[in-house]
Amino acid sequence: MNLIFLGPPGAGKGTHAQRLMNELGIPQISTGDALRQAVKNGTELGKAAKAYMEAGDLVPDELVIGIVEERLKADDCRKGYILDGFPRTVKQAEALSGFADIDVALNLSLADEVIIKRLSGRRVCLKCGGTYHVSTLNGREDCANCGEKLVQRKDDSPETIQNRLNVYAVQTAPLIDYYQQKGLLKTVECQPEATVEENYQRVREALGIA
Ligand code: AMP
Repeated sequence: MNLIFLGPPGAGKGTHAQRLMNELGIPQISTGDALRQAVKNGTELGKAAKAYMEAGDLVPDELVIGIVEERLKADDCRKGYILDGFPRTVKQAEALSGFADIDVALNLSLADEVIIKRLSGRRVCLKCGGTYHVSTLNGREDCANCGEKLVQRKDDSPETIQNRLNVYAVQTAPLIDYYQQKGLLKTVECQPEATVEENYQRVREALGIA
């Protein structure tokens, strides 16, 4: 199954994509993770992307499209993949249609006020991609999965979060219509009071996983 995870920052794309990756044995491909790694390694791509990312703006299309096109050629993508955070513009979606056959675009929706709370308390593992919220960490500072020290992403600061939500509304939300018109869209209304597991079940149901 070739999947796209759509939805605003903080809706749970990464969390559910990771679970699905483990369950279906197909890779989660996160352009955000790839870009953060490039910034950390100080590559040309990382240097070009850094300022956009820190401001909560989108990195130019031509920088991200190539990352995904290359990644999808790898052997582990033959049985399927989950694109997490790509495409984010109509131009990216059009480019994607030239090198990938998408089965489902899954749109995770969540109210802005919940997103702001989630992102401002988010802690992440830059090594394995694990994501946590301070309210559930009980003071713990390392990743339960790999032991790496957790960090707060620079773009999870309050001003940047607001900009990311604006960027999402203007540049990425049009993809909901785009994939609806192609007959590929499924939407999951994530419930803020529900557990991750309960919301994940909704994701599975929407994808028709028994
Ligand atoms: P994420 O981890 O998906 O929230 O992405 C973090 C940041 O990386 C975004 O705010 C953008 O600056 C950049 N980014 C990730 N994916 C894309 C994309 N598909 N197009 C443009 N910029 C992206």
